[in-house]
Amino acid sequence: MVSEPALHRVYLGLGSNLGNRAANLRLARHSLPEKGVKVLAASPLYQTAPWGGVKQPDFLNQVLLGETKLKPLALLDTVKELEREAGRTPSVFWGPRVLDIDILLYDELTFGSERLTIPHREMKKRAFVLAPLLDIAPGLVLPGGDTAAACYARLPEQEKAGVVLYAEVLSDN
Ligand code: ADP
Ligand code: MG
Repeated sequence: MVSEPALHRVYLGLGSNLGNRAANLRLARHSLPEKGVKVLAASPLYQTAPWGGVKQPDFLNQVLLGETKLKPLALLDTVKELEREAGRTPSVFWGPRVLDIDILLYDELTFGSERLTIPHREMKKRAFVLAPLLDIAPGLVLPGGDTAAACYARLPEQEKAGVVLYAEVLSDN
């Protein structure tokens, strides 16, 4: 008997600060299912001042909960393909982008390779990841036992204040 591939729960962090930012995030939500990632939950959109000292427009950020049979590296290939389809071209480090999709969590997996680190390296330090993540998964426990809520609570006030609710996302868009 051939067994079915297992279904994995993944949290994806989305960002856009070029073009029609909300439409870029919507494109990602709508394209993921046909690429093998069913979207189970979508956070509101948050507006975030950019990181890293490059002068550029504010980001819109969102976190999605997805369900997929894709293995971690296949999921990375899939989200990178979606970024390219959305029109992202290689740019300066920390520079503006049409669409950024990061794999935040993959089940309870801890994984490290040259191309992929799970959980995402910076997620515990970024209010623009943790605020939307907590909206859709308030009780979330990260690999290692830390809770997302505790990580958020530890952030400097200035970091948290830089992430502002922008819009609710209706289930039909
Ligand atoms: P950023 O770090 O700002 O998201 P990029 O989207 O350009 O920048 O990502 C750079 C590289 O980070 C990707 O090509 C990918 O190989 C690597 N990477 C490592 N871990 C992850 C992850 N969890 N999710 C997405 N990309 C990752
Ligand atoms: Mg990325």
